[in-house]
Amino acid sequence: MSRAQTSSKTAPKNISVYCRVRPPVSQEKGHTFENITFDPRDNRAIVVNRKSGTKMIEKRYMFNRVFQPSVTQKDVYDTFARGAVEAAFDGQHGVLFVYGQTGSGKTFTISNDDPKNEGVLQQAMKEIWGKIAADKENDYDCSVSYVQLYNEILTDLLDEQKARVRIQIGSEGRGDVVMVADATGLPIERPVKDYKSTMDAFKTGMSRKEMASTSMNNTSSRSHTVFTLNINKSRKTHAVEVGAGGDAAVALEGRLVLCDLAGSERVSKTHAEGKTLDEATHINRSLLTLGKVVAALTENAQHAPFRESKLTRILQYSLMGNGNTSLVVNISPSDENVEESLSAILFGQRASQIKQDAKRHEVLDYKALYLQLMADLDNKNDKTLEDALEEERGVYEDRISALNDQIKLLTEENTMLRNENGQLRAAVPADKLKMIVQTPASQVGGGAANGAAAGATGGGGVSGGNSWAEASLQLREMINLRDAKLRTISDERVRLALLLSEEQRKCFKLAQKMQAFGLKYKMERSQLTRRQDELAAELAASKGTDYLSAVTNFDMLTTLSSPRMPRDGEEFNDLEKAQAQIRAFRAERQELIVYQAKAATAIRMLVKERDAALRKAGLKADSN
Ligand code: ADP
Repeated sequence: MSRAQTSSKTAPKNISVYCRVRPPVSQEKGHTFENITFDPRDNRAIVVNRKSGTKMIEKRYMFNRVFQPSVTQKDVYDTFARGAVEAAFDGQHGVLFVYGQTGSGKTFTISNDDPKNEGVLQQAMKEIWGKIAADKENDYDCSVSYVQLYNEILTDLLDEQKARVRIQIGSEGRGDVVMVADATGLPIERPVKDYKSTMDAFKTGMSRKEMASTSMNNTSSRSHTVFTLNINKSRKTHAVEVGAGGDAAVALEGRLVLCDLAGSERVSKTHAEGKTLDEATHINRSLLTLGKVVAALTENAQHAPFRESKLTRILQYSLMGNGNTSLVVNISPSDENVEESLSAILFGQRASQIKQDAKRHEVLDYKALYLQLMADLDNKNDKTLEDALEEERGVYEDRISALNDQIKLLTEENTMLRNENGQLRAAVPADKLKMIVQTPASQVGGGAANGAAAGATGGGGVSGGNSWAEASLQLREMINLRDAKLRTISDERVRLALLLSEEQRKCFKLAQKMQAFGLKYKMERSQLTRRQDELAAELAASKGTDYLSAVTNFDMLTTLSSPRMPRDGEEFNDLEKAQAQIRAFRAERQELIVYQAKAATAIRMLVKERDAALRKAGLKADSN
């Protein structure tokens, strides 16, 4: 199964928007419930009736589907969340948002803990961990993160101290971000191994959320939270060979993101004061920016203000239509809340424009692709890969020069020993030496030779009698020892020469590989640049035709009927191709990283062997 086929199956690259109306709750006793109605013939429509002067105005709004109060949690999961879950399991990003006024049912939808009415999170995690348990072909490595954005301060809910979190640009360079602990710079993900550990992490984090009381809901959430499950899936392999084909390095990194947005109500409605008022300002700023971003993406504005709030920075990648993104707008059925419900519905309408207007969607995708290509080119430009290979080559060269030094040292010692032996031979008359060398050790009295004796012998000459026999014995033993050492050194020299040639071979192969990659990247870069130019031209051309739709009065959008789908798949095919190419780059990069890891292990083994050899030869291993 190729990645391209998989992605075409599960990556619609748009935002699906749903509207859920909860049943009346006890706090709404005495309210009337007439302003929000449904169309019995079309489950995608919701009708809002509002008083304007003495007249009632009726407006109809379309969603991918409207969930009426009687809908089951399972139905909501199957319709709203299953696509994102499948995408996450398949190496893409699945993103689920809940939006709405406090008390409208966001928490009930996303994470209701009652086993009879489980929320989307519980159902999603059960499905994912069930799939993992059933999959015998792949290994999984999963982790979670859970952050809270409260008054524009981002904190780690999985950390007991709720440590501050920093947002960094992801290494993939495609607009994705990573979140790290501000103090340490380390990623904030925690490993999870099953359904229970995942839900334990969620519950622990949930209990640390900021809560405050408002007149609408006494445990209302005053913060945005983002819970993420990272699914790293790789084929079961016993060993990855250095230089093996791409298959061994294939791994999918999927991500399921659940974003529970803080209440969308206006400040006046909550009668907020003091701290709560301050919170409401921040919450609304984040939501306002979210609204502006959605509007900018919808209207093909030149610049979507992602950086204006942390919320939109975290969600940037998902909002740009990457992966499978769904939003559910929760509303209350009460007439008291009709203004808030309408504003939430209008937000949903804006978000759904990204999908509903096929032409705009196409432009949006071009924009995302254009950014992706630029980021990819940047990646190539910064020469990270070449630098890494160059560095690795440097390491090899250091090793080689260390081995060369060792050989030189041994050669010098060898020469020195030969010279000394030559001198000794010259100092002892040939016939005596012959006699000494041939005399078995047992016939000569004990006494180990030592350097001092040898020195005295060599320097002062030798004379007959016992002292001559003793000196001869010492000389004989010394010569034997020296010969043995010479043999060891010469063996060691051969061994080191072999190691050296092996290192040189590796170095040569590495250089060849580097050269090949260099060439390949050069070619692919020029292809990408060409494609980028084409896309830029197409983008510019389409901007002309889109200008009119960009300045369309927003009110007109609210009268839209059913969503318009893309007329043909041509543009998508082009996009698929370009994206497949980008995926190929990434796979290749991964393969290189695996190769580097293997090479590092090989070096370590080599150094160990060399040190052992040096120790055997009686030389102190140098710190290299
Ligand atoms: P929010 O998270 O938007 O503040 P909640 O999920 O806490 O809202 O919902 C507010 C109240 O309404 C809770 O008591 C919740 O149990 C109830 N509620 C929400 N949606 C439903 C639903 N679909 N069915 C039954 N009760 C619901």
